[in-house]
Formats: sequence, C-alpha cells, structure tokens
Amino acid sequence: MRTDPFSLKTGVSIHLPGGYPLATVQRNMVVMKFGGSSLVDAARIGRAAQNVAAAREHDTVVVVVSAMGGVTDLLERAARSGTSSGMQAANQIVATVMERHETALRDLCGAHATAAIVALRSIGGELTSILHGIALVGECTARSMDVVLSFGERLSALVFAAVLSQAGAAAEAVDARSLIVTDAMHGSAQVEVPESYRRIAAHVSGADLLPVITGFIAATAEGITTTLGRDGSDYTASLVAAAVDADRVEIWTDVDGVQSADPRIVPGAFVIPELEPEEAMEMAYFGAKVIHPYALLPALDRNIPIFIKNSLNPSAAGTKIARAAASHGRMITGLASIDDVALLNVHGGGMIGVPGIAARVFTALAAAGVNIVMISQASSEHSICLCIRQREADKARAAVEAELAHELAGRRVQAIDLSTDLEIIAVIGDGMRGRPGMSGLLFGALGAQDVNVLAIAQGSSERNISFVVRAGDAKRAVCAIHDAFLGAEVAR
Ligand code: ADP
Ligand code: ASP
Ligand code: MG
Repeated sequence: MRTDPFSLKTGVSIHLPGGYPLATVQRNMVVMKFGGSSLVDAARIGRAAQNVAAAREHDTVVVVVSAMGGVTDLLERAARSGTSSGMQAANQIVATVMERHETALRDLCGAHATAAIVALRSIGGELTSILHGIALVGECTARSMDVVLSFGERLSALVFAAVLSQAGAAAEAVDARSLIVTDAMHGSAQVEVPESYRRIAAHVSGADLLPVITGFIAATAEGITTTLGRDGSDYTASLVAAAVDADRVEIWTDVDGVQSADPRIVPGAFVIPELEPEEAMEMAYFGAKVIHPYALLPALDRNIPIFIKNSLNPSAAGTKIARAAASHGRMITGLASIDDVALLNVHGGGMIGVPGIAARVFTALAAAGVNIVMISQASSEHSICLCIRQREADKARAAVEAELAHELAGRRVQAIDLSTDLEIIAVIGDGMRGRPGMSGLLFGALGAQDVNVLAIAQGSSERNISFVVRAGDAKRAVCAIHDAFLGAEVAR
C-alpha cells in the first residue's frame, strides 16, 4: 500500500518480483455522511457500519455523522425545559438520550462497549452540568443552546467510531469544533472556508484511523461552540469533501434518493436518478429535506458529485447531483413545498410610482431579523407581497408597520395584511425553460382541483415557479401537479 504524500488519495500497487509495479488500483476518496435517520437505533447504526465496511474494500473513506435521529430535538427541549420547569425535566431527557446511546453501544459492541461507555458517560456528565447552569441562570442564550445541541453529534460520533472499530475498521471520533472555524452567529454560523479547509485536510491526511467527524457543529477561532443550522451535517460533509478533494460525497438517509416530491405527501413520487446542481438547490431550498441547500455548494464548486443513498437499501442507485445530468425529457423535474408560512401584503394606491417603499420594507425586515422566503409584486405597484415564516409573522408585521407609520397615517399605504396558515409550493425543472404551455397546464391542474392561488413568483431562470396556497389545499395541489406533469400516483 502506498500513500502519495501530495494527495490524500491512496493507491494499491501490485509488485512483480524485482519491485516493478504491475498495476496501481486507484482508491477513490469518499465522504460518507449518515443522517439521524440512518442512526436511529442499534439496528440502523449496524446497517450504516456495514455500508462503511463495504465501501472501505475499494475506497478510502471519511465518515461524517449527525446526531442519532430525534436527539437534537430532545436536547433543544432539555435546554428549554431547564429554564422553565427546572432540572427535573431536563434530567429526564438526558437519561433518555444517554440510554439510547448506551443501548446501541451494548447491542453492537457487547463486552467491548465498556471503554466507549465510560467516554460516553463522561460527556453525559458534562451535558448535565451545562444544563444545570442554564437552569440556575433561568435563561438559555443562543450561545448556550449551541453548546447543548453539540452533544448530539459528539455522542453519536463516539458510538459510531466504536461500532466501526468493533467491526474491524479501526476508527476514531473527531470533534469538528477543532476543524471547522466559523463566526459567532450562533444557530447558523458562517464558515471561514480557507482556514477550515486547511485544518480538515491536515487532520485527514495525518489520520491513522478512519475519521468519524461530527456533523453540524463547529467553533469560532476562540474555540466557542457554534452550529451550522438545523440539518447542517450535510453541509459539514460537503465541506470535508471539498477540503480533501474527495471523488464523491455520499449522503446516506432513509429514502432511495431525491424524489419527484416529498414521499410523505405524494405516494407516487419516484426517485430522480440525476439532478443538475441548480435543480437540486431549488428542491432543497423549497423544502426537500433530504438535502440541505448549503450542502451543495462546497462540493459542486470543486466538481465533486453528490450521491443521495439509502442506508437501508444500499443497492439502490440513489440520486446523483452533478453537472451535465442526463435529460429526462419531462417538463418538470420535481416539486417541493414549505409549510408554516405567512403572507404579508403591503398595499395602497399611494405607493404607485413612489421609489423606495420596497427598499424600506426589506430593510425593516432585515433589521428585525426576518427572513423573506418569497417575493411577488404586481406590475401595478399597488401591492408588495412577501412570504415569511409563520413564527416570524407578528414580528414582521410590527416592523413594517413601524417603518411605514407615516404612509399609513397619510393613507398612501392603505393596509398591511397578514394571512397565515399557508404553504409555498415550488415546481422545479430545467425543462420548463422556453415552454409556453407550462403555466396554463399548471394553473389548469390547480383550477380543476378548486385550489385558490394567493400569490405567484417565477424566477428569471424559468427553472422554478412558486405559488402560495392555503395549508388545507396544499396536499391536493401537490398531488394534482404531480399527476399532471409526472404521471399518475400509485394511491392517494
Ligand atoms: P436524515 O436524518 O438522513 O438527514 P432527513 O429527515 O433530513 O434525513 O431527510 C430525509 C427525509 O426527507 C425523507 O425521509 C423524506 O421523508 C424527506 N423528503 C422530503 N422531500 C423529499 C424529496 N423530494 N425526496 C426525498 N425525500 C424527501
Ligand atoms: N443533528 C442536527 C439536526 O438534527 C444536524 C443534522 O442532523 O444534520 O438538525
Ligand atoms: Mg437531513
């Protein structure tokens, strides 16, 4: 076995007597990321470990893990319950979390679990102390929340490394807080890319053991714990792949790939074998939870393909996300939706031809920390329609009302209306470009189902048409469009 000092990829040379190499079999470098759905319990962790073992027969592997399924939510609840109802509820949650990890370890490592259980309990003790601190202060800041959430990945990496080692693939848990450097925007920190790449590459090239890197978590240059945003482990995997110039990234989850719609909504949804990066980005942005939108950028910037694979069905081909995807010939590629959104409608005849109103609305929302999910303005300039997350709706309306108080008093802006309980549906596909009949077919399908459309936006790329409907109409709308463009469903 040879390790090229200038590359993280390794080759296996077969030598003839006299030392002449006969052939070199290039081993690909693969980053395998396992999401919480692949790490729910011992059975799934065991399957995930088998997938790693199989890949190691021909590839050099780096593993990235999420927390065990549901653990991040539990930790968040523990931090919050500590502030309101004291430590008892938090202690209960910690006990549940620790028990899940210990059970998985015992089931998979048997008598060899002891050392890992000791390490696990020491981390559990640290978690309890931090939750005590939060309960005493009676407040959980964003900074403290990041520390609490970081335990999910720290614990799962420990378990997965122990399970791999037990299965014969000597592995070590690697805490990404020493590898990924971010700013201090707790809850969704921005990565300092060059420094993080340098640290990741240095670590992986020097590693003797198979690295099992914690997804989702990072730290500032001063060592303060941060997180990359919920579902951020996909992003960690992509960063690691870019840093080590991997040949591919594999996102292992619980479905066979990116599907033409959320399979929980459309039973007839099917796996999309190949996706262009921009299509995948639109699907991810509009709620296809199977991949995080940020996750695509680092890998695809370096032309590293991303595969979505099912850890419960590894022989399925999955979805490949890369440039020059094979054309499927259909008008649309897929559908995605975002629920729990609200529509803020600023309207009034006095806005017509007045420059600056839209800028002031956007600035006021940015200052209030409200994220705008979708924008639509009628050409009459009579109204500006903004989609925001429902949980930010009241804050958003108050911010815009304060900003436009003068115009409201003078009736130049007549009202700022808020509609809640809505969903955005996005129809996505490169095949929509330059297809004139597209909108007619789309809105015809919705009309036939009696679905009322409240707002519409189309990206100038013509790759996406998004529209807003009442939450109660959303499933019917998604199924009708899937039917019309992608074929009949199996069952509704
Ligand atoms: P993980 O824990 O592996 O990160 P996630 O729950 O984040 O898994 O993502 C996988 C889930 O995404 C699937 O179980 C599926 O229900 C959901 N999903 C939503 N939209 C899609 C889609 N278009 N294609 C595939 N899965 C989707
Ligand atoms: N554990 C984190 C979450 O649940 C990150 C991830 O799974 O990607 O959001
Ligand atoms: Mg995920």
